[in-house]
Amino acid sequence: MPTPGLDDLIAAGVRGKRVFVRSDLNVPIDEGILGDDTRIRASLPTLQRLLTAGARVAVGSHLGRPKGVRKPEQSLRPVAQRMAELLGRGVSFSEDCVGDATRAAVEGLGDGELLLLENLRFHAGEETNDDAFARALAAPFDAYVNDAFGTAHRAHASTAGVVPHVDQAVAGALLQAELEHLRVVREPARPLLAIVGGSKVSSKLGVLEALAIEADVVAIGGAMAYTFLAAAGEPTGASLVEPELIEAARALKANAEQHGRRVLVPTDHVVSQKVEAGAPTRVVEEIPDGWLGVDIGPTTAKRYAEEAASARTVFWNGPMGVFEIDAFAGGTRTVAEGVAASTATTVVGGGDSLAAVQSMGLGDRITHLSTGGGASLEYVQGLTLPGVAALER
Ligand code: ADP
Ligand code: MG
Repeated sequence: MPTPGLDDLIAAGVRGKRVFVRSDLNVPIDEGILGDDTRIRASLPTLQRLLTAGARVAVGSHLGRPKGVRKPEQSLRPVAQRMAELLGRGVSFSEDCVGDATRAAVEGLGDGELLLLENLRFHAGEETNDDAFARALAAPFDAYVNDAFGTAHRAHASTAGVVPHVDQAVAGALLQAELEHLRVVREPARPLLAIVGGSKVSSKLGVLEALAIEADVVAIGGAMAYTFLAAAGEPTGASLVEPELIEAARALKANAEQHGRRVLVPTDHVVSQKVEAGAPTRVVEEIPDGWLGVDIGPTTAKRYAEEAASARTVFWNGPMGVFEIDAFAGGTRTVAEGVAASTATTVVGGGDSLAAVQSMGLGDRITHLSTGGGASLEYVQGLTLPGVAALER
């Protein structure tokens, strides 16, 4: 069943309706000073469309992990001000997201006016998806819009629990765009190349197992590569290896090959004796004792970039090395350039991967930069996202 979207809600007429929008406004705030506001900007198209159509909008979000406790340093108040600047209109703020005062604030909204609610996670019922809390959240509203892709893989009160308690529930523009682009990876033009790197096999085992069968080629880099090398019986020196996952890595590769897929592991490595800027490095095919892999080697990086050139769909999550240190960023850079240059549909997800691609100035040459992190990985591996499933009732 297609997910109902913002167009459906607006077509049905929203003038004068009270609409609760769940956005992802989880931005860095340090001592009251708001840092990178990308997420606020990303939330605006949905809000703007609703306001222009005359809806009375209240927007809610989590910020950080206050775990059910009211923490002033995790207040969303600074976001209201930035939002007002960006929208060029007033944004009022409610000290809570439920209760009488919140209801009064929502009832005080005129057509086309916007209210920001306080951090949803100041209430424990948000993360436990408590039904009484979900009811209280939904109470002042006629309709609900979920635009928070980054939390769609969590069944929380504001992402799933509210839905049965409103007349209409739809996906916002940002959530819809994420689903559309990530669907391209779930139903790919082939060959599909998945490039997976980053810190650990353990954090990405689910997606690796799924991609090892779904993708035509899986190219592995980052720290997780060394667990795969260990599984192949190759020396790994002092590299980060997860011994308890060696067997899983071996099984995964064998299973992929049985399905006619290829799993590529690095054949050369940048090694160092310390993960530290300025530490001497070597490029090797066999990792010596006392040295650890900090990046895929140039031959491997070139091979992965060539795979990107001949793929029709590329999904990339996880840097190829410790890219935060310039001397260990070469593999990530070569692969990023290869992905950017490819004529394939390219999707990059993951906080560090996005940071790497952006810092290399290649962001606008990628088809879709997924903001979802955990949610994109779960969606790509074929799992149902509770926040999306709730809308498809
Ligand atoms: P993403 O946020 O894109 O999903 P991850 O969080 O899984 O990516 O992994 C990113 C981290 O992995 C980076 O901090 C990077 O330094 C680290 N990393 C990559 N390769 C290695 C390596 N060889 N050794 C240690 N850490 C690594
Ligand atoms: Mg990360």
